[in-house]
Amino acid sequence: MKNHRVAIVGGGFGGLYAAKALGKAPVELTLVDRRNFHLFQPLLYQVATGGLSPGEIASPLRAVLRRHRNTEVLLAEAVDFDVAGRRVILKDGAVPYDDLIVASGATHSYFGHDDWHTLAPGLKTIEDATEIRGRVLAAFEHAERETDPERRHEWLTFVIVGGGATGVELAGALGEIANDTLRHDFRHINPAESLILLVEGEDRVLPSFPPDLSRKAAAQLEDLKVTLRLNARVTAIDCAGVAIESEGAAERVPARTVLWAAGVRASTLGKKLAERTGVALDRAGRVLVEPDLSLPGHPEIHVIGDLASFTHQGGKPLPGVAPVAMQQGRYVANLIRTKLRGGNMKPFRYFDKGNLATVGRNKAVADFGFAHVAGFPAWFLWVFVHLMYLVEFENRMLVFVEWVYNYITRNRGARLITGGGKR
Ligand SMILES: Cc1cc2nc3c(=O)[nH]c(=O)nc-3n(C[C@H](O)[C@H](O)[C@H](O)COP(=O)(O)OP(=O)(O)OC[C@H]3O[C@@H](n4cnc5c(N)ncnc54)[C@H](O)[C@@H]3O)c2cc1C
Repeated sequence: MKNHRVAIVGGGFGGLYAAKALGKAPVELTLVDRRNFHLFQPLLYQVATGGLSPGEIASPLRAVLRRHRNTEVLLAEAVDFDVAGRRVILKDGAVPYDDLIVASGATHSYFGHDDWHTLAPGLKTIEDATEIRGRVLAAFEHAERETDPERRHEWLTFVIVGGGATGVELAGALGEIANDTLRHDFRHINPAESLILLVEGEDRVLPSFPPDLSRKAAAQLEDLKVTLRLNARVTAIDCAGVAIESEGAAERVPARTVLWAAGVRASTLGKKLAERTGVALDRAGRVLVEPDLSLPGHPEIHVIGDLASFTHQGGKPLPGVAPVAMQQGRYVANLIRTKLRGGNMKPFRYFDKGNLATVGRNKAVADFGFAHVAGFPAWFLWVFVHLMYLVEFENRMLVFVEWVYNYITRNRGARLITGGGKR
């Protein structure tokens, strides 16, 4: 009898956890990713702000899965699906399947202003992170050489659009860079005079956290001299600044560095699945999945992670966070194994262990539902959880050593301008 073929598109949190859970299953598994590595996105902002190097938060997929004899890793881009013929169509070939898991994630959305992409880079890939790092560090270099005070101030103004977890992390890290890390590095500027402006459309930062934790995160940001603009929208961006609208008033903020941390749009493979199977998408392009994460009328196709909109638990779709993707990956792997044994699985249930967001050194918030924690204990927990979830033991050790060193010296060793910083 021929082996049961499983194809997984995407080696992020969802795809990789599904592949790992199928490592010993009686299946022939092909994992397709357009990158040859798994990326630990929650620590991308540390690369963007010089705290870590790219290699420390990425692990080659072949290395992670090398002991899984039933698994093949393909470096390839999936572009379409032949649903009747049960094949994933690649840019340069095809992969047959009996069960398909699509975990191609999401990217940032500019809410119809895709032209802002080059003016205000978002943070999703290693390239984005090194580009942001380059721009931030180059801004201080330009300011150092600028003699006109107004233009110097423009170089020392950093606008971050979006006050969710990524925006808060970026703003906090920029605050630390300006006030701490670079304190003694320049001769003509005082980096602490930088204006770091965090713009959020809602009336508080971290809107997905309880209001008391948002207030604590705001206070922690203010400690790092981050200026908050709440209830505010960026309405225009150009290479010399942004226009901000807030409660009817318009304001122009001259700034040479604008970073985008607002809005999410699902991978375009969701649209392909909708065209091929008729499945509905939500406004962010996420696929509305069944309670077992399959598509209506297609029990052999499963969509997980940031690409899936799972609305069968609590009405609202589950959040686009790593634990959801990991649990869904494991669930679908179990579902396939159970199906092969002739059994049935209960619908997927997400077990929410709590939410964490960090603002900076000794500064973070944690929401466990029954308890809200802020400050050092939340930060310590954040460090522990992020170290534990780094995929490879080697990365865990490297990051641990780097963090201890950075903590003691208040340094950020990876402050390199490498190809980034250009416009
Ligand atoms: C900056 C940032 C910070 C974050 N911080 C946190 C955090 O602190 N805590 C938390 O829980 N979550 C955080 N998240 C969210 C978390 O990273 C995502 O929820 C999680 O990565 C989703 O997993 P996924 O498997 O659905 O997608 P991803 O992890 O994004 O993986 C998708 C994979 O699919 C591949 N791919 C995409 N399209 C194709 C294609 N056409 N062909 C082949 N391969 C393809 C990609 O290369 C990628 O490897 C953060 C995200 C970002 C961007």
